[in-house]
Amino acid sequence: MDKLYAMKAWELKSLLERREVSAAEVLDSVLDRIVEVEGKVRSYITVTEEEARKAAAAADAARARGEDAGAAAGVPMAVKDVLCTRGVRTTCGSRMLENYLPVYDATVVGRLRAEGLTMVGKANMDEFAMGSSTENSAFFPTRNPWDLGRVPGGSSGGSAAAVAAGEAVWALGSDTGGSIRQPASFCGLVGLKPTYGLVSRYGLVAFASSLDQVGPIARDVRDCALLLSLLAGHDPLDSTSLPGEVPDYLAALGGGVRGLKVGVPRELVQEGLTAGVRESLENALRLLEEMGAEVSEASLPNLDYALSAYYIIAPAEASSNLARFDGVRYGLRVEGAADMLEMYGRTRAAGFGPEVKRRIMLGTYALSAGYYEAYYGQAQKVRTLIIMDFEEAFRRFDVLVSPTSPTPAFGLGEKVEDPLSMYLSDVCTIPVNLAGIPAVSIPCGLDEGLPVGLQIMGKVLDEANLLRVAHALEEALEFRAEPDPARGVGR
Ligand code: GLN
Repeated sequence: MDKLYAMKAWELKSLLERREVSAAEVLDSVLDRIVEVEGKVRSYITVTEEEARKAAAAADAARARGEDAGAAAGVPMAVKDVLCTRGVRTTCGSRMLENYLPVYDATVVGRLRAEGLTMVGKANMDEFAMGSSTENSAFFPTRNPWDLGRVPGGSSGGSAAAVAAGEAVWALGSDTGGSIRQPASFCGLVGLKPTYGLVSRYGLVAFASSLDQVGPIARDVRDCALLLSLLAGHDPLDSTSLPGEVPDYLAALGGGVRGLKVGVPRELVQEGLTAGVRESLENALRLLEEMGAEVSEASLPNLDYALSAYYIIAPAEASSNLARFDGVRYGLRVEGAADMLEMYGRTRAAGFGPEVKRRIMLGTYALSAGYYEAYYGQAQKVRTLIIMDFEEAFRRFDVLVSPTSPTPAFGLGEKVEDPLSMYLSDVCTIPVNLAGIPAVSIPCGLDEGLPVGLQIMGKVLDEANLLRVAHALEEALEFRAEPDPARGVGR
């Protein structure tokens, strides 16, 4: 048998349910692994060992009584530190919330608790989810378990690194412009950004409310489907949450791709791709054709403007959302100011890091009287054109496919001085958030020993279909590579 910490969630679940292993044994394996590699990888802001032990003991006790312990019971999970966890420090990777103890659980966390959630820790992230490398964490950068000199991606880099390093079996991330898919691709994992509104955002600290979604990061498509089925569904506490039944995502797996119409948006495979990314993409497309799919080029001309529109809309919403961190209601307050305005200023100067300040300034400017129409208004119009481009493309194609990121994981420090080049690592993922559609990233090859991700985009609420395609491709690709102990943490 594989080491327990390295197994898939569905494998562990079946061992646990048959009582061939206990939740305590699985947890011990993961906690030992944390002791072994966390000093190198640094996935976690907070490790919740005590809470995890209690959850594992409860799961074992329930199973010993012959009861159903819940679908997530005993399978250790990392939770991005942007999701509120009752009584457990929730920092958002920021000094502003360094000591913030939420008094409630995010809806997704609550749902998982009802299913026996065994949370091992709160995962590191770029401050307020702004970034693509986890280097914007106010505390420390996380390293890529495949190569400790490289970034794990971001902003859910801690979640992805934890799963890739064996410090958790699966994880929750959030995705505003690529923050689930890009770290999943950099760490050789499967990550899914659901349709806007499918998963509750209640208790997710808001970055850009019209774009944010919570979703799973996992080791294979089956685990991803399983976790999504626990997260999805209407929540009366989130006004943007969609009504309706949640389909059975696991039942969709195994369906194959015969007759599937696959489009490859020309705008997402332009210059800037490494040779390894291009080869991996071509190989995946060839496999899809061999399995009976019809692959052809698509064109969504307005995608060329997606990055520009995003960097108006996301900062604009962020500047509004982050106004609440003023030293009065939440988190940090700098004492000793002469009056309230000075207290606001000193608190925000001390509590926010440079990237967050840059976004607040950009967003405030874009929303200011006199510039509003020229920037925010224009960006919203571009967003509508992008939505229409996708609608048009989905009349011809069942799914669209592209690389998840133009390059594999880049070096630590390589892009910190150049925000624009950092922003460019999300060119392929950002259009999906602007359109509100779902997309999944699966590992599809290696580029100089580093994982490459393939993004599969689908129609609104077509997650079951996306997962079916991802699963068929995963079987055909047979991606079995593991981090090399000489560069990364090994297995
Ligand atoms: N990297 C993008 C940004 O910095 C997306 C981040 C995210 O999805 N949270 O805004």
